[in-house]
Amino acid sequence: MSLKGKIAVITGSNSGIGLGVARELARAGADVVINSFTDNKEDHDLAAEIGKEHGVTARYIQADMSKPDQCRALIEKAGACDILVNNAGIQHVAPIEEFPTEKWDAIIAINLSSAFHTTAAALPMMRKAGWGRVVNIASAHGLTASPYKSAYIAAKHGIVGLSKTVALETAKEPITANAICPGYVLTPLVEAQIPDTAKKYDMTEEEAKQKVILERQPSKEFATVEQIGGTTVFLCSPAADQITGTTISVDGGWTAL
Ligand code: NAD
Repeated sequence: MSLKGKIAVITGSNSGIGLGVARELARAGADVVINSFTDNKEDHDLAAEIGKEHGVTARYIQADMSKPDQCRALIEKAGACDILVNNAGIQHVAPIEEFPTEKWDAIIAINLSSAFHTTAAALPMMRKAGWGRVVNIASAHGLTASPYKSAYIAAKHGIVGLSKTVALETAKEPITANAICPGYVLTPLVEAQIPDTAKKYDMTEEEAKQKVILERQPSKEFATVEQIGGTTVFLCSPAADQITGTTISVDGGWTAL
């Protein structure tokens, strides 16, 4: 399957899952726009490296997904957007009564509201092109909850709902919208949680990974960024033309429990 000629914009993609998704879309032939809020030489070098490796056009566009105007500007600067992957996300863990308001606001803005703004800007481009895919990177936490992650879980449930709404508003057109719900994937976002978890439970970091972080993931293995990227490519394939308004779990059985 080739995505040659398609332009994919992946938010929050200079690291982790977003980068993995960008690499897999480029491997499938799509031109890609990589994004984050930074504007470092490494960000532009990363895009150049992906472009060279896969023989596609790869650009880095700086935009802060906590800012509505910058979310919309990212899509405008891309010039076209056949595949929109809303992936940017952050985490904060605290009981509700201690949860800082600014963290709540930042998580809702980056993990949820950014997808509203990018989708609003991208849909007219998809309609003009006569084809489009919206892929929202939600989480197993878009379908289930855990304590102390109130903002993240509210945002992830929200993005699952947003995916369904976009699917219904585009149902009669060759555009689909879905959410991928990964379980734990070993990325910088998760790696940052390991030392504290080990300390809290008085365990080694390896024990913390297996016994605490992967506790709810029956496979006892992390999902990989390549698997999330591969699922995104599948959602862009003709086999997925009638898959819209739904979730695909890549979670080692977490949500089957
Ligand atoms: P990560 O920290 O490696 O990547 C997050 C990306 O978002 C980075 O590229 C970062 O630069 C970008 N980002 C953060 N704030 C931004 C902002 N204001 N504007 C633009 N970009 C911004 O984390 P990850 O694990 O790869 O997470 C990616 C997505 O996958 C998130 O939405 C996360 O909730 C989701 N997810 C991750 C896991 C997991 O286990 N890692 C599981 C389920 C869902």
